[in-house]
Amino acid sequence: MDIKKGIAVSPGISIAKSLIIDSEDYRIPRRPIEPSQRLTETQRVKNAFTAAIAELTRLAAVQGKSAGKIMDIFAVHLRFLKDRTLRRKITDLVRSDLVTAEYAVSSVLRDVAAHFTKVKDQYISERADDIYDIERRLLKQLLGRKREDVANLTEEVIVVARELSPTQTAGFDREYVKGIASDAGGRTSHAAIVARSLGIPAVVALEDFSEYVRGGDTVIVDGNRGIVIVNPDEQTIGRYREYSQEFTALEHRLDALRDLPAMTRDGVEIKLLGNIEFPDEAALVLERGGQGIGLYRTEFLYLNSKTEPTEQQHYDAYARTLKVFKDRPVIIRTMDLGADKYTQSKRFAPEPNPMLGLRSIRFCLRNLTLFKTQLRAILRASTLGQVKIMFPLITNLQELKQARLILRDVMEDLAEQNIPYNRDMEMGIMIETPSAALTAYSLARNVDFFSIGTNDLTQYTLAVDRGNELVSTLYSAADPAVLRLIRTVLQDAHKARIDCSVCGEMASEPEHIMLLLGMGVRTISIAPPMIPEIKQIIRSATIEESNQIARKVLGMNSESHISSYLRTVARGVLPEAF
Ligand code: PEP
Ligand code: MG
Repeated sequence: MDIKKGIAVSPGISIAKSLIIDSEDYRIPRRPIEPSQRLTETQRVKNAFTAAIAELTRLAAVQGKSAGKIMDIFAVHLRFLKDRTLRRKITDLVRSDLVTAEYAVSSVLRDVAAHFTKVKDQYISERADDIYDIERRLLKQLLGRKREDVANLTEEVIVVARELSPTQTAGFDREYVKGIASDAGGRTSHAAIVARSLGIPAVVALEDFSEYVRGGDTVIVDGNRGIVIVNPDEQTIGRYREYSQEFTALEHRLDALRDLPAMTRDGVEIKLLGNIEFPDEAALVLERGGQGIGLYRTEFLYLNSKTEPTEQQHYDAYARTLKVFKDRPVIIRTMDLGADKYTQSKRFAPEPNPMLGLRSIRFCLRNLTLFKTQLRAILRASTLGQVKIMFPLITNLQELKQARLILRDVMEDLAEQNIPYNRDMEMGIMIETPSAALTAYSLARNVDFFSIGTNDLTQYTLAVDRGNELVSTLYSAADPAVLRLIRTVLQDAHKARIDCSVCGEMASEPEHIMLLLGMGVRTISIAPPMIPEIKQIIRSATIEESNQIARKVLGMNSESHISSYLRTVARGVLPEAF
């Protein structure tokens, strides 16, 4: 049994067999075995060869004789796989050096490939690629099934990966993918955000976990504590089953809050909204007791499709969302592409520093056709409910004015064509950069509302990549620098008499709620599964206590003191959540 600590990004407990995906392109680390495991590991080598030979023979039969070149390649691969000397070299390495089957396969085959590469004869040097192919084929047998299998699951699994993209995560079948464990990522990386929205327990930043666990190993994902356990003993499994039942019971208890207001004990009502990536999630927000959509991340319309969405596709997605929340606010954020929400394979050229590159509103302002298509659809949908539009990553007044001008252009086009839209649709911006926070006083006079995106605000204030596990300990929205900027924004919004919500992940972390209330936040937008728990905290708090907490925290100058103080306070309010 091995326990590994990472970062908890999506709550819940799950126990299932691991499915390693995307394991093909990186090295297998040298992991020692006990002398008593020699026999098992050499047997695994043999089984992998037998299975790979069977797979290739099957593939060759399917291809038939017509596929001449492919058949030649299969024949070369089969010859290598049937070569007893090669297999013996691998099993000898397992026995002599006490290493795993994966390591021995990888190490021997990479040696052979390196040797081939050095040979001057082109035919032989090109055979190195065949060797890498064979290595992948054998590793696939040893590590578990291959990536495509995620789409056709028939049993529950824990997906283990080096890194997951938001799109990949969004495609997971919730019925079978019970947990996620990845080497890379941070609490606010977009794959983590999607996992939380889907309600799949997840732990990220596990360093080399995916290289270390084997396909089919039993894995526990503890998305509450940020722990994964490989091959747990019976006692641990029993303990976790109990813990999981307690957690489900807590969730059921919290479900009872659905129709109760998010009101503090001293009678102040907080607007509790949901963040969504897909129209289907709107129903989940309602089910969990959310009062509207505070952030609709529309870029997933682009990420999930091979072609650019048409105006009608945009409109249909918004109309579906508005059907659920007819007379409640639905804030549609214009596309926030770039950074970790890349469609590299499509029209976006890779950038050397994408977080500081042509992302989000900057990208829209350079691609007006794309931007206007979306604006038209949002405006057309504005007659269907309480639609508000929000621009992401505004860094200065100039950018805001440009975006507003384009919106006005599109409005004029629609008016000319007699297409109805809501002329009074509210327009707001996200405050996600220090520059926007520091100029909030002037931005506030030009918009109807603000929403603080603490995920990006933290990243840009602290100069810490939100998705990079190597610097994840430096990433905290409770850092005094970030808190000062949030306070400035709230004060400026208050002076300009506009609403200022918080829609970053900070608002879904129980320990931050009273601090935010104390700083003056009255609208919060979070991942749907977190709504009941956050509502419970709000209902257990008072504004008076929250004000005291905020005063105390804003007087502190160290992130670690702030975080430990906030955790202690929150534990007192809702002990079950910790
Ligand atoms: C944020 O940056 O806090 C935010 C809510 O936007 P996203 O997570 O989509 O970047
Ligand atoms: Mg953002």
